[in-house]
Amino acid sequence: MGKATGFLEYPREDIVDRDPADRIKDWNEFHHPVPEDKLRRQGARCMDCGVPFCHTGIMVAGVTSGCPINNLIPEWNDAVYRGQWREALDLLHKTNNFPEFTGRVCPAPCEGSCVLGINEPPVTIKNIENAIIERGFAEGWVVPNPPQRRTGKKVAVVGSGPAGLSCADQLNKVGHQVTVYERADRLGGLLMYGIPNMKLEKIDVVERRINILRQEGIEFITNAEVGVNVPVATLQQDFDAIVLCGGATKPRDLLIAGRELPGVHFAMEFLQANTKSLLDSQHQDQRYISAKGKKVVVIGGGDTGTDCVATSLRHGCSQLTQLEIMEQPPEKRAAGNPWPEWPKLYVLDYGQEEAQAVFGRDPRDYCVLTKRFIGDEQGQLKGVQVVSIRWETTEHGGKQPVEVPGSERIIEADLVLLALGYTGPENPLLEQLGVEQDDRSNVRAEHGQFLTNAPGVFAAGDMRRGQSLVVWAINEGRGAARECDRFLMGTTCLP
Ligand SMILES: Cc1cc2nc3c(=O)[nH]c(=O)nc-3n(C[C@H](O)[C@H](O)[C@H](O)COP(=O)(O)OP(=O)(O)OC[C@H]3O[C@@H](n4cnc5c(N)ncnc54)[C@H](O)[C@@H]3O)c2cc1C
Ligand code: SF4
Repeated sequence: MGKATGFLEYPREDIVDRDPADRIKDWNEFHHPVPEDKLRRQGARCMDCGVPFCHTGIMVAGVTSGCPINNLIPEWNDAVYRGQWREALDLLHKTNNFPEFTGRVCPAPCEGSCVLGINEPPVTIKNIENAIIERGFAEGWVVPNPPQRRTGKKVAVVGSGPAGLSCADQLNKVGHQVTVYERADRLGGLLMYGIPNMKLEKIDVVERRINILRQEGIEFITNAEVGVNVPVATLQQDFDAIVLCGGATKPRDLLIAGRELPGVHFAMEFLQANTKSLLDSQHQDQRYISAKGKKVVVIGGGDTGTDCVATSLRHGCSQLTQLEIMEQPPEKRAAGNPWPEWPKLYVLDYGQEEAQAVFGRDPRDYCVLTKRFIGDEQGQLKGVQVVSIRWETTEHGGKQPVEVPGSERIIEADLVLLALGYTGPENPLLEQLGVEQDDRSNVRAEHGQFLTNAPGVFAAGDMRRGQSLVVWAINEGRGAARECDRFLMGTTCLP
């Protein structure tokens, strides 16, 4: 695939993002479009490796390796190299309902397992994916395509994140009448109210796709929380099957002294209110937690933490620290992290790149444990007491944190954002449906089957898997649609 000698002729060229110091002045996306000749050169680097690993989508050492939706990467790389954009788009849509989402926000486990990556920088798969779908929209190739016939079966999908949307899309394609219930006022789940606008545009990208789904015949109902203001019995009576795609947004707390102080917030309170206020009024309504002029401490070094960093910078914070309990990863693959595993490397994500442009350094402090939040006499947050740790190997081969004596210190703070991950779904709906949950409180249903213990009730995405990735949510939404179709029709042609 690609040009036989392309990988020898052309180096990897990453896309050039907008200047970090400049882009923090607005909420627009930070990527520039990539010129076509550059994309074709990058497609040419795909090297006909015989046994590609980029599309495998398996777990290796507990982490995703290869594309979880098995995108036909070598095939569309080749089509792009040849300038066959329509063919590339058709290939891409065979496996991915929403390449414009993954092409922007996926961490690209495909690139971690690209065979060229064994001794050279891998193919820029994610950028090519995004370019194919954006070319499709620009050319007018992505248009509503309602099903030719209806089956007369009705399915309720609970939740409109990537799992719910992909599930609804697949079920609608085979003619079932799908209604999506969403408790928020806007559709998209964490695509809308988790991932910030500068990483994924809400109107131009998320709603662009939802409008197509609507025109294809999917019904969407917002401000509708099933189990609260929409009775579970309504779904049970009115639909032939139910698919639960409610996400897993119960945040992990940090129950240390001072947790009750005003100024200590969950990351999602901060991010969700920010996007809502931005979309409702361009922040004129002031209904968000502002970091303007504040000393911000973000606790947690993952994607959510990075989004808090980037959002705080756009508000105009005066100081910024991001605390991470784990060790700083190496700059090159460690011996114990070989290809095709996901490479655990030290990189500056977009938020840290922006922080570096403003404050002159990566805001992350590694191997730091938070001990307590400190208030002043008026009960206002004024700092965070932390201590450095060392990770020591236990006699059973595990790792445990050991505090470094004398390393206690106080970081000034008047806004703390807790981005420590999520502990499972938060949902009265599950109890009302009598759906079993596993040890981590996710809905119990086997991957591949997606059927819960309740007859005709399926589960997909973070609600089944635990907080994960958009691409896994799409994988699960598609799989649950397939099994739901089989349940309804006795057979299925869905992949
Ligand atoms: C801040 C943040 C940043 C992230 N960044 C990335 C990233 O860059 N790349 C990436 O791949 N992944 C990222 N993720 C993870 C990714 O967003 C999720 O894995 C993915 O959105 C899960 O999809 P889902 O459809 O299962 O659930 P969600 O997207 O959580 O959607 C679930 C929806 O169900 C609704 N709902 C819940 N209960 C009910 C009910 N009873 N009735 C009606 N509606 C209900 C919720 O309101 C929500 O809209 C990020 C997550 C967060 C929190
Ligand atoms: S969805 Fe993610 S893993 Fe799959 S090809 Fe796109 S960037 Fe790679």
